[in-house]
Amino acid sequence: MSDATAKKEERRKFQAIRGTRDLLPPETTLWNRVEQTAHEVFATFGYGEIRPPIFEPTELFARAVGGETDIVSKEMYTFEDRPEEVEKPQVFQDFERYLRSVQELFEKSRIPQSKENEEAIKQLERTLKKASDAHAHQLFDVGMVATTFYWANAIKLGDELSLRPEATASVCRAYIEHNMQQLPQPVKLYYTGPMFRRERPQKGRYRQFYQIGAEVLGGTDAPAIDAEVIEMLMTFFDKVGLQGATLYINSIGHNADNCRRGYVAGLKAALEKVKEKLGPDSQRRIDTNPLRVLDSKLESEQVIIATLPRIADHLCDECKTHYAEVKRQLEVRGVLYQENWRLVRGLDYYMRTTFEITAPGLGSQNAVCGGGRYDGLVELLGGPPAKGIGFAIGEDRLILSLQESGKGRVPQRRDVYIAWMGERAYAAAIRAAKDLRKSGFSVELPPVEQKFGKALGQADKLGAKYALILGDNEVSEALWTLKTLATGEQAKLTEPDLLQFLRNQKPAT
Ligand code: ATP
Ligand code: MG
Repeated sequence: MSDATAKKEERRKFQAIRGTRDLLPPETTLWNRVEQTAHEVFATFGYGEIRPPIFEPTELFARAVGGETDIVSKEMYTFEDRPEEVEKPQVFQDFERYLRSVQELFEKSRIPQSKENEEAIKQLERTLKKASDAHAHQLFDVGMVATTFYWANAIKLGDELSLRPEATASVCRAYIEHNMQQLPQPVKLYYTGPMFRRERPQKGRYRQFYQIGAEVLGGTDAPAIDAEVIEMLMTFFDKVGLQGATLYINSIGHNADNCRRGYVAGLKAALEKVKEKLGPDSQRRIDTNPLRVLDSKLESEQVIIATLPRIADHLCDECKTHYAEVKRQLEVRGVLYQENWRLVRGLDYYMRTTFEITAPGLGSQNAVCGGGRYDGLVELLGGPPAKGIGFAIGEDRLILSLQESGKGRVPQRRDVYIAWMGERAYAAAIRAAKDLRKSGFSVELPPVEQKFGKALGQADKLGAKYALILGDNEVSEALWTLKTLATGEQAKLTEPDLLQFLRNQKPAT
């Protein structure tokens, strides 16, 4: 590295990784308000909070979300776990030591016990032996280096882990791991937190984004459960002040020949007939996931999609009855909905009821929540047969929509700015700050003495409601000055009166 590049490197300004961002005050106040509302509303419906880890075995997501989905096939952040004590070799001389430690770990079952690993370790040993012989006869060449690296890299030191792209799989895993089927059913859980998907970043689409989600596991699949989950969701959106939200619902039946499987076969046949008129994505999906074609936003495909067979005409009797009852129960609960036969959702685990909520102000990324029923999922992950239904709200998009509609404004302000001058005044200022903070007021106490003019300017900038002025005069007269910054009004009060007056106000934050 040249000196110039080294210097540049030193001065490098770090930036958040593409698709990630800092959430900053005052916006974080809005985030907290939204999350607090979720805690409160969900608690009134009897849900408890779960906080699963942020990474899990890749296999969990592959199995739950589905290997054919975009999420699993290309969007996950995956890495290899490994025992603490092994270090990948950096230079050729390290390989002997590396081989010994890997052999030892393999014997102790500390690294995956696969046939592939057994083979790779054997090959690495052979290659190194050959290299050492060749070295003795001065026949060593680059090909041997390449082969050594190849076999060393082929050894898997640990399981593949992934940052979670969604949390339903984790919640189901936890339900099984903690034998929650022994609790009163259904078990109602919710979570909030970051999810990770390697998608193309754009408005309302990030690589680290946040979801608020809930799951109902076990018990019955009574349509009332579906309706109540949706009712809770709409109650939450109402409470946070989301305006213009539209709820879309659909039923995608269950995986049987007389239901969805039959429909998908028919859909596939219909798609084959119009294949030439479809774009490359949809053409590919005819084979991998025909239902997803219905999800297409491509303008040119819309007229074609409108002519395709619809799932509602192919539901089995049970699924049809279930769906009709979900709709009736929504009506009983006063929840407005629109049916959308093209709503299929992108994750493999869904069945029967699916729903999505859109909100204004978000451009083409206008879905703020997706959800549905997934009765087979717990069993698919190795647990007991269990019903399941849930949803995930995109918190980033919810916040964006609130901000666009003017509902997201959170003025950053202080209740009281204490302008003090002099040592005695400072002691009184500390006392007053402590007292007011205890009552929940936000108080700014400047760490160094400032002229009153400057202090009041600062109070103004911070949007303080009151300035408490404490100078030598105030302390010796035992009369403190309180200035209301909006009006400029000033009052002189004793310490107890002044604190009492403030305490009678409502804290701004
Ligand atoms: P979309 O069709 O918008 O990609 P999705 O079907 O992939 O959404 P889900 O996996 O059902 O979404 O996740 C539920 C919600 O999470 C979405 O409705 C959306 O609000 C939010 N969400 C999903 N992916 C992202 C992302 N990359 N950035 C921000 N929010 C997201
Ligand atoms: Mg997506």
